[in-house]
Amino acid sequence: MPRTAKAALIVLLISTLAVAGVATAVAFRESPSATAVNRAGKSERRDDGGLLASRRLLIPVDGVSREQLRDNFAETRGGKRRHDALDIMAARGTPVFAVDGGRVAKLFRGGAGGLTIHQFDSAEQFAYYYAHLDSYARGLVEGMVVKRGDIIGYVGSTGNAPSHAPHLHFTIFKLGADRKWWKGTATNPYPYLTEAKR
Ligand SMILES: [Zn+2]
Repeated sequence: MPRTAKAALIVLLISTLAVAGVATAVAFRESPSATAVNRAGKSERRDDGGLLASRRLLIPVDGVSREQLRDNFAETRGGKRRHDALDIMAARGTPVFAVDGGRVAKLFRGGAGGLTIHQFDSAEQFAYYYAHLDSYARGLVEGMVVKRGDIIGYVGSTGNAPSHAPHLHFTIFKLGADRKWWKGTATNPYPYLTEAKR
């Protein structure tokens, strides 16, 4: 096949998706994965669970087994507010692991969460949120890429956690198209957390 014909095979597909009344144009180069990308647009919502399951997310607190986890995602906190996270009780100073590999998007201090980490997954579709930390792991900085199982911090009670009950407040946010660390839809991590071992 002539090179010119090869170049002609690079086709731009424009697919227009109506999301919440806003039309979004997506262009990509045709390749063997183009079909998958195209399909993902339609089945994205359905596949989120499958995607998270395939990551084999690590239980983020050292020494905590699957059996010890409690699903308190849908409980109410402070009146009417839904918790939208898991609380994993542990002694102050217990290592906190990255549940998955990816970039540290934000280290945020202050507010109800206290000392927190917002970590994206490698595809930057989800944000993992770790709160009430006592401290960050030494050398942890925004922008660095961590591996699944890396120690990123230590359990504490910063923010609005009771000082006598240190725990990790952990949740997953499905990121929007703009991939902002502070915006997303809370997703219950409970079904997806697997092994405590690294
Ligand atoms: Zn909590």
